[in-house]
Amino acid sequence: MSIFRSRFPNPSTIRIFVLTLLTVPCGLVAPAWGQRQLSGTPEIELALHKLNVLGSVLMIAAHPDDENTALLAYYARGRSVRTGYLSLTRGEGGQNLIGPEQGDLLGVIRTQELLAARRIDGAEQFFSRAIDFGYSKTADETLAKWGREKVLSDVVWVIRKFRPDVIILRFSGTPRDGHGQHQASALLGKEAFSAAADKNRFPEQLRYVQTWQAKRLMWNVFSFTPEQEKEALAMPHKVGVDTGEFNPILGKSYNEIAGISRSQHRSQGMGAPERRGPSKNFLVTVEGPPADGTAFDGVDIGWGRVPGGEAVGRILAEAERTFEPEHPEKIIPLLLKARPLLVAIDDPWAKRKLEELDETLALCSGLWLDATADHYALVPGRPVEIQLTALNRSHASLDLRGYSADSPHGSIDGVHNYGPHSLSYNQPVTVSLSWIVPADCPYSQPFWLRQTHKGDTYEIDDQQWVGLADTPPLLMAEFMLNFQGTNVTLKRPVQFRYVNPTEGELTRAVIVVPAVGINLPEPIEFFPNEGQKKVEIQVKANITKAAGALRLELPEGWHAEPASQPFQLPDADGEQALSFSITPPHAETQARLRAIAKLDGNEISTGMTVISYPHIPPQVLFPNADAKLVRADVKVTAHKVGYVMGAGDELPEALQQLGCEVTLLSERDLSGGNLGVFDAIVTGVRAYNVRTDLRANQDRLLEYVHNGGTLIVQYNVAEGGPFGGRKTGELAHVGPYPLQIGRGRVSVEEAPVKFLAADDPLLMSPNRISEKDFEGWIQERGLYFASEWDSHYHAILETHDPGEKPQEGGMLAARYGQGVYIFSAFSWFRELPAGVPGAFRIFANMLSARGATMR
Ligand SMILES: [Zn+2]
Repeated sequence: MSIFRSRFPNPSTIRIFVLTLLTVPCGLVAPAWGQRQLSGTPEIELALHKLNVLGSVLMIAAHPDDENTALLAYYARGRSVRTGYLSLTRGEGGQNLIGPEQGDLLGVIRTQELLAARRIDGAEQFFSRAIDFGYSKTADETLAKWGREKVLSDVVWVIRKFRPDVIILRFSGTPRDGHGQHQASALLGKEAFSAAADKNRFPEQLRYVQTWQAKRLMWNVFSFTPEQEKEALAMPHKVGVDTGEFNPILGKSYNEIAGISRSQHRSQGMGAPERRGPSKNFLVTVEGPPADGTAFDGVDIGWGRVPGGEAVGRILAEAERTFEPEHPEKIIPLLLKARPLLVAIDDPWAKRKLEELDETLALCSGLWLDATADHYALVPGRPVEIQLTALNRSHASLDLRGYSADSPHGSIDGVHNYGPHSLSYNQPVTVSLSWIVPADCPYSQPFWLRQTHKGDTYEIDDQQWVGLADTPPLLMAEFMLNFQGTNVTLKRPVQFRYVNPTEGELTRAVIVVPAVGINLPEPIEFFPNEGQKKVEIQVKANITKAAGALRLELPEGWHAEPASQPFQLPDADGEQALSFSITPPHAETQARLRAIAKLDGNEISTGMTVISYPHIPPQVLFPNADAKLVRADVKVTAHKVGYVMGAGDELPEALQQLGCEVTLLSERDLSGGNLGVFDAIVTGVRAYNVRTDLRANQDRLLEYVHNGGTLIVQYNVAEGGPFGGRKTGELAHVGPYPLQIGRGRVSVEEAPVKFLAADDPLLMSPNRISEKDFEGWIQERGLYFASEWDSHYHAILETHDPGEKPQEGGMLAARYGQGVYIFSAFSWFRELPAGVPGAFRIFANMLSARGATMR
């Protein structure tokens, strides 16, 4: 495992370092991105206080944003207890308000948003293997899709690892929670409360963990409205928590911290106020002894709970009492006095507190430990130089006795001898290491995406990775230090540190990438007829002097011209576009195309997707260099299409695949451009919610329709509740006649669709639509259907979830002057980018409505 190893003078003190993935404590390693939330005296004072608190609380809910951030901040920052949030999913199924990423990519963004939030509120983050597959109305549907036992096993696993005294459910487990996934999170939490303590449940986990019985299970009752608060106040055995409490060390109340933390959920538009003043939260006991005072009633959360802990507690309490902000180093001897007593205790709490104590030693000596690589994108088989720096910024006596760096992907590569080196005041000591990345080193794909998932849970082979929020660092540096005679080893991730001229000093994670990345333009190539199509493939170098050849692998009946092409890229970061012509077969069919680069005797068939937003660290994913080929007959008479991009979707690319020329319409186009040139204009998802220029120019769009144009309006959000999206205000004017957007949705993607008038031109021309066109849809039928509409509109299609009332507001059309207006809340933004042939045919008919005879 070790790639570098140095030696302590005394061989008996050498520890074999195995990267224990689950014990790298959040918040104790330097944050990879963004500012550290605390530093100096507040950081040390809180660390000292936390050393004397041995309590823990775990909150469980379904999604990023379900968590009560104020409560997390209250426990983590205010009560110094170990605090965690288990979100069953990574929020893959929601709508992205900041960019085009959907599905897995959105899950990656939301994972990082939660981690950014946790860096602020001080809690730790966990996930189960469950995937947010979109809106679900019942817990039964949710649990059937996930596989109840699989997700329950993950909740049990996280409880057994985290060992919470108190588990807090965010939901009640009843239909009042709304979303079926919300209900399921509470049902699973309740079951896991006792299952975690039962050695007959999931016994395979007991190789790694012990059973655990939390003291009590509580429900964080909703108190969003005055009625809910009244209801909560009437409940017996409840604990009230005022998250409006002010923390003078932090200079903030927990609600203010929560506002900052919650505002990290940018992809959901969760910007939140930093509220001041009192704020009541209620916790009701669901299982375990009822609590009336605090959530920890009857739990000793001090050193008394650990055998032999009292002596440690006395010394650490003295350290906290005698701490002088001007001279933090003065308490180092006390910490060193407690340390051997702590080492001698065999208890998970003692192990955790030992890590915290060692980091507190570093804080008290102003110790700066840094490990940086000379570049961040490492390539298998090639070297990387690593610098380790130790800087003692106190007058406490401190030695560097040795150093190493380890990787779960590395093999032993030499031993570094390093004699003791005294770290004198403010004199940095820097040492270097070099590592050859193993030739078979896997690329740094987020661990939950390394295997393709088929259903609605991720495939993760190694039990030890289940529950983790993020992939652990590729390389960890170890600094073997000696504090006044005591050996202490501290770990830091190896990062890339750089200066951006506009943003200043930044760090980013070190990752492993292919020598060249091969990016296909689209994950789906759609062939609406048997015409040939040009596909331009980008080859991007991650090394200098990359030279080789790229070929396309196609199934029988498909042809690429040429069969193979050479590439030559002198510079790392250089890019070259290679163009191939693809001819589809005559018959409708689906197939897969794979692009393969051959260089230096290796074959590479991997792309690189970079996700970059200012509030999260850059994320790089490594999709296969392949694309789905769909050959399906689709006729469209519209040629020029104007598109008003809303919150972000991939429809413009999909419409180009139909052969349309798509123009994205800017504010200027809407206010003064010649809209008459377009055969059809389409508004993107949530466009009326996010674009004031669109709302302001609605009259011009209606005039365009009146003069003979076709306007297609996709879904917009009417208004939100606490868990149902954000407030968006009145949207009465999306159409030429009154039309009310409701909250109706059809979340079962196979729900039958009825044609309300089979001879409607939108179902007849230029493509004849049949039931078959509603096959193979993904995730859902549609959302935010119209709830009421003027008689000028006529409904085209009816669909509804099993057991619900028929819904006719998914697709409405109206003649207006010489043109056609269509409101359609079907999920075109999901189905077209996924290459669903029927969805293409129906959308083509809407685009072509101008030519059809409308009712
Ligand atoms: Zn939710």
